[in-house]
Amino acid sequence: MFSIINPANEEVVTTVAPSSLEEVDEAIARSNEALASWRDVAPGDRANMLRRFSDVVRDHVEELAQLEVLNAGHTIGNARWEANNVANVLAYYSGAPERLFGRQIPVAGGIDVTFKEPVGVVGIIVPWNFPMPIAGWGFAPALAAGCTVVMKPAEITPLTAIRLGELALEAGIPEHVLTVLPGKGSVVGQRFVDHPDVRKVVFTGSTSVGSTVMAGCAAHVKAVTLELGGKSANIIFADADLDKAAATAPYGVFDNAGQDCCARSRILVQRSVYEKFMELLEPAVKGVVVGDPSDERTEMGPLVSRGQFDTVRSFLPDDAPIAFQGSCPTGPGYWLPPTVLTATEQDRAYREEIFGPVVVVAPFEDEADAIRMANDSEYGLSGSIWSRDVGRAIRVARGVESGNLSVNSHSSVRYWTPFGGFKKSGLGRELGPDALDAFTETKNVFISTEN
Ligand code: NAP
Ligand code: MG
Repeated sequence: MFSIINPANEEVVTTVAPSSLEEVDEAIARSNEALASWRDVAPGDRANMLRRFSDVVRDHVEELAQLEVLNAGHTIGNARWEANNVANVLAYYSGAPERLFGRQIPVAGGIDVTFKEPVGVVGIIVPWNFPMPIAGWGFAPALAAGCTVVMKPAEITPLTAIRLGELALEAGIPEHVLTVLPGKGSVVGQRFVDHPDVRKVVFTGSTSVGSTVMAGCAAHVKAVTLELGGKSANIIFADADLDKAAATAPYGVFDNAGQDCCARSRILVQRSVYEKFMELLEPAVKGVVVGDPSDERTEMGPLVSRGQFDTVRSFLPDDAPIAFQGSCPTGPGYWLPPTVLTATEQDRAYREEIFGPVVVVAPFEDEADAIRMANDSEYGLSGSIWSRDVGRAIRVARGVESGNLSVNSHSSVRYWTPFGGFKKSGLGRELGPDALDAFTETKNVFISTEN
């Protein structure tokens, strides 16, 4: 049994039994059996089942959100958005089964058509930072494509995933079509990678584990989608709406206490407005409401675990170049205040993903310098560009090596647009109109018309 800890007060919420290797193998076997009937469910019926699943999740948004507040310390506002996101993603992909089109390609002597066949059993490995959305981004398109799913939540945040598995059954999704297997990454997750009957792995997490998952999948020539870390740049030009850029910058990085792969954790500011921007940023950072995540007014809660707290603390030694900090509760719980560092390009805090409420600010000279600095990272997941010059904003958006950029905003992920990373931020895309491609194989069939 492992204990689930409330990160806001360090109290034990409940205990969860980790799945053994035997249980994982048994679940994969059942999932593989269920595949034969699930893939053959008529498209309209599969669509209806997913719609019902979406409705049932929608009916349980409040319960799921409260669970996430307890388990992961997410603010109640965020947690409600996250639970609704699962319902929305299911509703969006419930439109996919009847639209899983192949092609008809002109050939001589017959007809040539393509089919999109489900890849088979899909293993989804979910991290602790967004337990609900990341689960849904995997299972909704996978189920729509006719795949069955085995899913491993992060060891420390399994509660909402377990509940979603129950709600699937309640909604009429057949048994063994979506199986949630709490447990250790080294046991359950690794088995998804190594088991020959899991034909595709969707992994979200750290770049280091992601690359070992990819290597493991290579041994089986198994498809893999990776959503990994980030060190995204929020680029602010002198011609930007500085008030708005400064007012929103904290929310572009401190949302979910900075435990967001899309966190704009490097703020790059054109040197000519650097001082002015910092003057505007300070009250914005100090104004972030940090506290009890169940309070509706709270904007930032605690870090998820003691381990994550220690990791983030290691970026804040006594001589850290702190420009200014917000505030946070004292006492039990894994609390850190929003913190702004004036690190240099060589510093660890500038280069490594911190995954906590710490942002570095650095000046740049001109457009070329901004692009160079934004790209001077092994990651490339998201980023923002602030400028009133449309041409410049577009040039910079095209120049930054990153999968998800927003101009004069810090757009969060939209389920109907593609999401994923360049470089060591990942491989493949989730969400959006093409997500089912990641869960299907194209089959080409030629039918002779000759007698
Ligand atoms: P992690 O240690 O890589 O874990 C992610 C998941 O992988 C967990 O479920 C973990 O299980 C599992 N795992 C661990 N070792 C494994 C193995 N050998 N084989 C298979 N699975 C294994 O990452 P984390 O610490 O949970 O999350 C933080 C990181 O994830 C950050 O770097 C962040 O940027 C990244 N992230 C990226 C995205 C994105 O969309 N790009 C989204 C969220 C997070 P356990 O729970 O047992 O450790
Ligand atoms: Mg880990």
